[in-house]
Amino acid sequence: GRAGDTPLTKGSPEHLRRITAAIDDTALVAARADTDWITHGQTYAEGRHSSLAQINRDSVPKLGLAWTLELGGRRGMQATPLVVDGIMFFTGSWSIVYAVDVRKGSIIWRFDPEVDRSKAPSFCCGVNNRGVALYRGAVFVGTLDGRLLSLDASDGSVNWSVLTIPENSNYSITGAPRIVKGKVLIGNGGAEYAGVRGYVTAYDARTGKQAWRFYTVPGNPKAPFEDPALERAAKTWSGEWWLQGGGGTVWDSMVYDPELNLVYIGVGNGSHWDRNVRSPGGGDNLFLSSIVALNADSGRYVWHYQTTPGDSWDYTATQPIILTELEIDGRRRKVLLQAPKNGFFYVIDRVNGELISAAPYSYMNWASGIDGRGRPIEREGARYADGRTHWISPSSHGAHNWFPMSYSPSTGLVYIPGVRQAGPFARDATQAWNGPNQVGSGHQVTASFAFRRDREQVLDSNPDAPRPGTASGELIAYDPVRQRRVWAIAQPSHYNGGLLTTAGGLLMQGDAEGYFTVRDDRTGGILKRFDVRSGVISSPVTYLVDGEQYISLLVEWGGGQGQYHKKVDQLYPGTVYTFKLGGTATLPSREAAPQRSLITGSTTAAPEDIGRGMNVYLRNCVTCHGEPGSGGGVIPDLLRSAPEVYEALDFIVLGGALAGLGMPGHSRQLSSSDVADLRDYLLFVAASLRSGITPQRLNQDLGAMQRQALDRQK
Ligand code: CA
Repeated sequence: GRAGDTPLTKGSPEHLRRITAAIDDTALVAARADTDWITHGQTYAEGRHSSLAQINRDSVPKLGLAWTLELGGRRGMQATPLVVDGIMFFTGSWSIVYAVDVRKGSIIWRFDPEVDRSKAPSFCCGVNNRGVALYRGAVFVGTLDGRLLSLDASDGSVNWSVLTIPENSNYSITGAPRIVKGKVLIGNGGAEYAGVRGYVTAYDARTGKQAWRFYTVPGNPKAPFEDPALERAAKTWSGEWWLQGGGGTVWDSMVYDPELNLVYIGVGNGSHWDRNVRSPGGGDNLFLSSIVALNADSGRYVWHYQTTPGDSWDYTATQPIILTELEIDGRRRKVLLQAPKNGFFYVIDRVNGELISAAPYSYMNWASGIDGRGRPIEREGARYADGRTHWISPSSHGAHNWFPMSYSPSTGLVYIPGVRQAGPFARDATQAWNGPNQVGSGHQVTASFAFRRDREQVLDSNPDAPRPGTASGELIAYDPVRQRRVWAIAQPSHYNGGLLTTAGGLLMQGDAEGYFTVRDDRTGGILKRFDVRSGVISSPVTYLVDGEQYISLLVEWGGGQGQYHKKVDQLYPGTVYTFKLGGTATLPSREAAPQRSLITGSTTAAPEDIGRGMNVYLRNCVTCHGEPGSGGGVIPDLLRSAPEVYEALDFIVLGGALAGLGMPGHSRQLSSSDVADLRDYLLFVAASLRSGITPQRLNQDLGAMQRQALDRQK
């Protein structure tokens, strides 16, 4: 400061106030990725490529741990931390906000918005949050239960709070807000549930007053359309889609382009998943699975590009969007890059939405390419309309989910945290219009999982196809100009953290196996690897504090797939890991819990009762607990529960004894006899697995039992 200023204690409330007050529109537009990390994707371009190079290919062997900070959470940290002058702001599970002093490795303040834990199963895909926004002295967070809060950055106290969703609805917020010219943008998720119609809203950052809202799908045509573009979009729908909302939530990507004064939003999947149910006469169903450009001041539609017309596979286009310029056919083009779930990599002219190029970045069998009009060429059977179960690649998890990719201008490569998985899709004649599906958490799920195990399975005979029931990952280096994979590294898990590249020639990622790996960005070769013990589902950040380069990573396993899947033996409480050159801190000591074995006991229940119990499980338990016996993630595998859990099953499942942990009572959905069937089903599966039965045989047995149960129901 100037002479005469009081010396400012770093980490004091006044310091936090001043450094965040300086984050205004000018600072955000000027953010250069060389000191602080003040907005979600590092700069408005969201390229996640730092120009810092103190830590580089030569110096990285000296990279060590500066400090660790244990936070205690156990449901997953997905946030990208923001860092300004050595103060780090981020979220943990349950939308809890932290301010941490990088210089000391300690918490300055913590704010818990107190989301009702018992509502966990109503929120899609874990109780997670991907981060905060900073602007003019405030920290903004969207909470799982749909609130947008402005917090005083100096102490975490609430400036204002608005509810961004209808009361008692199925929407949730897991994405990070973005700041656009004095407004806070926030979307939401929930298209897997009934009654959800996607939209993004801009609020005045100072007051919380709504400035504009853009709906991604048309409402009832009898009511006035909120945007003229929705009137045109309505012509691409049929039936009474608005009764179920239509889906199309904007749950992650919202990127501001100050050059063109546009906001690009990535729009999610349809609700119901199956277009045949959602829009029985067909149609593209705009603006599902599209990138839509909006005027940043008014929120009005400017252009769109639809990646998956008439989506029937949960192929969202919500995946991260990167803005850059590329030299293509001798012309400098302003482009946006996206690798959405459907497996195609897109280079789009961001001035007008024109498709420049698209090609597969991953294995797929739902489409064979892109036609001259920029539409995918669908393969026979891709819409699973014939009553059989079709194994389709990519699965509903996508060839790439929300985990951020990065773009390095020095290598010219985009790095994608890729997924190899086929998923079962089947149309179910019992799926009634505007009614809940047969599979899910008992909360009006609108997905198309193949829940009938006795159906004929249609497999992909291509030797490159992922085998049914398997999933793996691949770290892909992709050339966006030539539209080709340059190299790819196979990974055991399909669920790894996001990416970061730097001018030091480094590519970094935390993974499901509990490693933080620093690679050479040219070859993918490993330069340094740290054992962080628990699986990682966040993205690393790098920044400068007092002239020294740091790297930070949030480590806490969880998230949608992490609820019932893990690749490490043990999961540990959430911890911030911070690295620097010459760091000498040691790993925190960890105490391993004993491994649980399969429950004992068996059942003499009739096959149809076991089949009924399986249906209860598929409708109410599987989306959080996963397939019984799979080992569990942050949510227990019920085949490895303690005997006391089975003794108290009614008390837990109906009475809600564990509601505070996120397991609410299901007395409205289930009876005591349902719970008895559920117990018999679990005991039967456990006994089968103990006997060494093959998964195929177990599936056959269960399919037969399910058929008996369904026949009896008729
Ligand atoms: Ca979805």
